Amino acid sequence: QWARVRARMRSEFGETAFQSWLKPLTFKGFHNGVVHLLVPTRFMQNWIESQYGDRLLELWRSENPSVTAIDVVHSATSSASHSAGHSGGHSATHGASGFSAHGRDGAAAPSANTDALNSFDAGLCAPLDPRFRFDNFIVGKPNELAFAAARRVAEADNVPFNPLFLFGGVGLGKTHLMHAIAAQLRESAPEKRVLYLSAEKFMYQFIRALRYKDTMAFKEQFRSVDVLMIDDVQFIAGKDNTQEEFFHTFNALVDQNRQVVISADKSPAELEGIEDRMKSRLGWGLVAEIHSTTYELRLGILQSKAEQMSADIPPKVLEFLAHKITSNVRELEGALNRLVAYANLVGRSITLETAQEVLHDLLRANDRRVTIEEIQKRVAEHFNVKLSEMHSARRSRGIARPRQVAMYLSKQLTARSLPEIGRKFGGRDHTTVMHAVRKVDELKQSDSSFAEDVELLRRMLEG
Ligand code: ADP
Ligand code: MG
Repeated sequence: QWARVRARMRSEFGETAFQSWLKPLTFKGFHNGVVHLLVPTRFMQNWIESQYGDRLLELWRSENPSVTAIDVVHSATSSASHSAGHSGGHSATHGASGFSAHGRDGAAAPSANTDALNSFDAGLCAPLDPRFRFDNFIVGKPNELAFAAARRVAEADNVPFNPLFLFGGVGLGKTHLMHAIAAQLRESAPEKRVLYLSAEKFMYQFIRALRYKDTMAFKEQFRSVDVLMIDDVQFIAGKDNTQEEFFHTFNALVDQNRQVVISADKSPAELEGIEDRMKSRLGWGLVAEIHSTTYELRLGILQSKAEQMSADIPPKVLEFLAHKITSNVRELEGALNRLVAYANLVGRSITLETAQEVLHDLLRANDRRVTIEEIQKRVAEHFNVKLSEMHSARRSRGIARPRQVAMYLSKQLTARSLPEIGRKFGGRDHTTVMHAVRKVDELKQSDSSFAEDVELLRRMLEG
C-alpha cells in the first residue's frame, strides 16, 4: 500500500517535489486507523502536513478505507536529547515540539561525557531545512560575494578567511546560505563537527547551562566544534552575559583555526548594543553583504521556484511580480505560493488579472515602501537642515516647516497612522501631525512654488 501511495504522489506532485519532500518519508506503521510516517526534520514535518497532508490522507483512504488519520512525526528531536547525556538509538518521538522544548521536559542536566560529544552536531545543531541548498540558490549581483564565500566555506579546507560574516536585510537569503553550508559539509566531510544555530538558541543554551551550573560542559561543547555558525547574531545585542560568553567562544575557535560563520542584519560596525571589541573581531575575516534584490535576480528566483513547484505561470505574470514585489525574497515566494494555491483551489489558470486580484494586499504594501526615515532624510537634505532636527523640539520656522513637510509626506506615502508618525518625529502626538498635514495643504494652495517643492520631493521619494 505504501509503495502504491508513494507512486501516486510521485506522479501527482512531480519529480522535484517528490524528491525533496515525499521520498524522505518512511512508513512506521498502522495502528487504530492511524498511519504513522516519519521524516528527518521538523521543517519537513510542518511542510508535509500543510502542503500534502490532505492529499496523503485521501490517497491512503483510497487504498485502505479504514485509515482515518495520518500522523507525521520527525526524528530530529530525539537526537537532541543525546546532548543531555542520554544514550540510545535515534528513535522517533511523538509530537515532540523540537529543540527548544528540551529544557522543560525534566531531563537531567547535561554532563560532558563522550556520548554528548559524539552525537554533538545531531544534538545541539538546529534542524536544517532541506530546501535550503546551494543548487537552488539563485545567484545575482546582489548576493554573488556572499554565495561565493559560503561555497568556499562549504568546501572545508584552507578557507582563507575567518570568520565569514554575512549580513543583509530580512528575507534575502542569509539563513538559506548557512543551511546550505551545513548540509554540504555534512555530506562531504561527515567527520567534521558542524554546528548551526540561531543566536537565540545559543543564548537559550547558555542560560540553561547557567541554571544547571553546567557552564563547563557548555564551553567544552561549543569549543570542540570544527565549524560554528551563528545566525542572526544581532539578537544578542544588549544581552551582556551571553555576549561575553559568545565572545570567548568565538575567540577560542578562531584562535584554533576553526571556521566561524556569522550572520546579522547589519554590518559589524553598524550593530548596536554590541561591544566595540566584539564588532572589530567580527569584521576580521570576510564581511559579505547581501544587497537588496534587483529585478533580474527576482525574476530568476521566481522562474526557478515556479519550475520547482511544477507550476505553469505565464512569463508575463512572473515579470509583473518581479517588478512589483521588491521587498524581499520571502515575500516573493509567499506571493508565488499564494498564487499557485489559488489557481489549484479554484482550478483556474493564472493570468495577470488573477495575480493582481489575489495579491492585491501584497502589491499595495510593496507600492508604498518608502519609509519615514527615508522621507526625513530626503526632506532634511532638500531644505538643508540637520536630520536630527526632524526629532528635535525646536520650533523656529526654518526647522518647523521642513519637519511639517516630512510629516505630511509620511502621511501621504506610507501606511503609518498619525500616532505612529508622531512617534517617529521625536515623540510628538497625533494632533501635531494632523496640524502639519493641514498646514502643508493650506500652504500648497497659497504658495505655488512651495507646492512644486513638495511635489518634487514626493516624486523623488516615490521613485
Ligand atoms: P534571511 O535569513 O536573510 O532572513 P532566508 O534565508 O530565510 O532569509 O530567505 C528567505 C526565503 O527566501 C527562503 O525561503 C529562501 O530560500 C529564499 N531565498 C532567499 N534568497 C534566495 C535566492 N537567492 N535564491 C533562492 N531562494 C532564495
Ligand atoms: Mg534568517
